[in-house]
Amino acid sequence: MDTSAQHVIPRDVGWIEVICGCMFSGKTEELIRRLRRAQIARQRVVVFKPVIDNRYSQEHIVSHNEQTLVSTPVQDASEIITGSTDAQVVGIDEGQFFGGNLVDVCEQLARSGKRVIVAGLDQDYRGKPFEPIPQLLAVAEYITKTLAICVVCGNPADRTQRTSSSQERVIVGAKDLYEARCRRCHRVIEH
Ligand code: ZN
Repeated sequence: MDTSAQHVIPRDVGWIEVICGCMFSGKTEELIRRLRRAQIARQRVVVFKPVIDNRYSQEHIVSHNEQTLVSTPVQDASEIITGSTDAQVVGIDEGQFFGGNLVDVCEQLARSGKRVIVAGLDQDYRGKPFEPIPQLLAVAEYITKTLAICVVCGNPADRTQRTSSSQERVIVGAKDLYEARCRRCHRVIEH
């Protein structure tokens, strides 16, 4: 099934779509595109993001190309359930910043008939699976892996290279400290 098609209208069944990839691969852009399609079809859409992501805007999700959509910041994935009661389509950005309960929350939403679309990093800067996205991929019906372009060689890139020496797993709001790299050009700096 083409999940981008306008005829996608959840009725008696819900499902989970995951848009994953490295930084600069257009995950949020793709999330916004799908949610706007649903809005055009007059479906009831709600959008959530973790409070930790303060970059650009507290109440919008913003892609690197500056597209925006109004969103609700939440501390914990469980708040998404109560905030989605009337929604047909539930969008979640920066899924990697939620805890493991994000998986249960998405399954519960899908079981209640909602279309759930989650965007998130599938690897951290070391190239390791970034939970809970791998667990979410296992239970999702539809998976899209977005690729960036390697800044070193121009090949398709699926990894995030950190260009600073910080050992934080993610430095929020510091996109200039990262760049997209392919498998060959990605380097893990050990400390
Ligand atoms: Zn490369």
